[in-house]
Amino acid sequence: MNVIENKTRCAKCKSSIDMDSTSTYIEGGESYPFCKKCSDILETFPIPANIIRQFLTPEQQQSQVQRNIFAARKQRTEGKKILN
Ligand SMILES: [Zn+2]
Repeated sequence: MNVIENKTRCAKCKSSIDMDSTSTYIEGGESYPFCKKCSDILETFPIPANIIRQFLTPEQQQSQVQRNIFAARKQRTEGKKILN
């Protein structure tokens, strides 16, 4: 791969992201870069910063309720794309 070594990676899905399409959220003094897809999911929440900690929790460690919430949000963002 001939990509730049220190390319930013999404804090959630670890996919590499271009700096100009990165959304960075600040939570607890830490900044987290997110790819478009993951930031779209975060932006479905009224206050994205409040949800970051839960969002970054690996799915296996999330409660069933949390998993359902994020699955529903993800479907919503994907549905939005189809409509566009
Ligand atoms: Zn991501």
